[in-house]
Amino acid sequence: MNEAEFLREKFREYYSKHAVNSVPSIEAREFGIGDFKKKIVKRHMHFASVSELNEFLRKEAPLYISYSAAYYKEPEARPMENKGFLGSDLVYEFDADDLGLDCKEEHDFWYCKRCGNSGKGSVKNCSNCGSAVEQYQFVCEKCLDATKKQMLKLIKVLDEELGIFEQVSINFSGNAGYHLHIRSEKVRPLSSAARLELVDYLTLAGFTAEASIADFSEKMLKCAKPQAVKGAKARVLNRMMEFISNASPDELAAFGGIRLSKARYVHENRAKIIEKMKQGILDYLPGSKAISVKFWQNLIEHAKNCEALKLDRQTSIDIHKIVRVPDTLHGSTGLIAKTVPLEHFKEFMPLEHAVAFGSRQIKVFINKAPKFKLGAERFGPYENEQAVLP
Ligand SMILES: [Zn+2]
Ligand SMILES: [Zn+2]
Repeated sequence: MNEAEFLREKFREYYSKHAVNSVPSIEAREFGIGDFKKKIVKRHMHFASVSELNEFLRKEAPLYISYSAAYYKEPEARPMENKGFLGSDLVYEFDADDLGLDCKEEHDFWYCKRCGNSGKGSVKNCSNCGSAVEQYQFVCEKCLDATKKQMLKLIKVLDEELGIFEQVSINFSGNAGYHLHIRSEKVRPLSSAARLELVDYLTLAGFTAEASIADFSEKMLKCAKPQAVKGAKARVLNRMMEFISNASPDELAAFGGIRLSKARYVHENRAKIIEKMKQGILDYLPGSKAISVKFWQNLIEHAKNCEALKLDRQTSIDIHKIVRVPDTLHGSTGLIAKTVPLEHFKEFMPLEHAVAFGSRQIKVFINKAPKFKLGAERFGPYENEQAVLP
């Protein structure tokens, strides 16, 4: 039995024991499946009922299965225009690869087919010959924790600032992140342009110091009063004050782009500076106006980057996008894209709670893999060796 057949057999076994019932209005959705080579090789599929979908999963056991966020009159019709678009859920996706995390330097590596060079980290081109490399990306608990934090923040903003946190379902992506589906009537008719506007708000695209919260045009530098503004503006201003009150002189120098002597001044006078910010005044640093403007611009930029959600833009804008069916298996990890009830989301640990195959062990040959955790056990690192895995 080759690897593909073995995996398919395992997937079949899984689907024969676990029914998938995670897609509301299943009759109005388009489905797509993928195999070893591509996550989507076939689209425009349609299932009339939940039992029809499960019959298909038990029989075909696809390595990947996705469904449309959109609702259609005729989901199987093609091209797209003939489907009869009826509206679309809002889907937000976080992936650890988009977060620029330090741990990727530890567990990701690359290999150059051309010259045989290899190394650690998330690298696109070979450091030796410059040609495009094969990337091997892995996921650790830090990655998953970071995507979870992003999701928790998104939930808060959707609920408190945008008022669209209704009929929501969250699931693990099966690999390196989380998906959130909003299925309320309210969001279904939203156009791509309206969805883009929402994404821009969430990612703080177009948020700049002067366009949003500051005025550097007069002698006195001003900012919006934190208590007088709401939403993203208030979050950025609060983040700035928090940073000033907690940062060391070194951090103030690094993020503010100023000399250490000036950073020490800010540090010593932080209480006074914050007090002025609350009154809408950005205090002068010793020296020229230009130095102060640069400092405040950098600080606003830093606070903005902390507040901006690093979500996948394309997923939330494209109304015809198909996304992983919750509670199905992910073909490259074998993990379940498990639905997580909101009340359990904080405690959810994918590498423990989304493991589909755990009882029988198999021997595999591993070229290279970093340390990782699966179920309650830790494994690796491995390099060109045989290992026994669950
Ligand atoms: Zn090379
Ligand atoms: Zn990581």
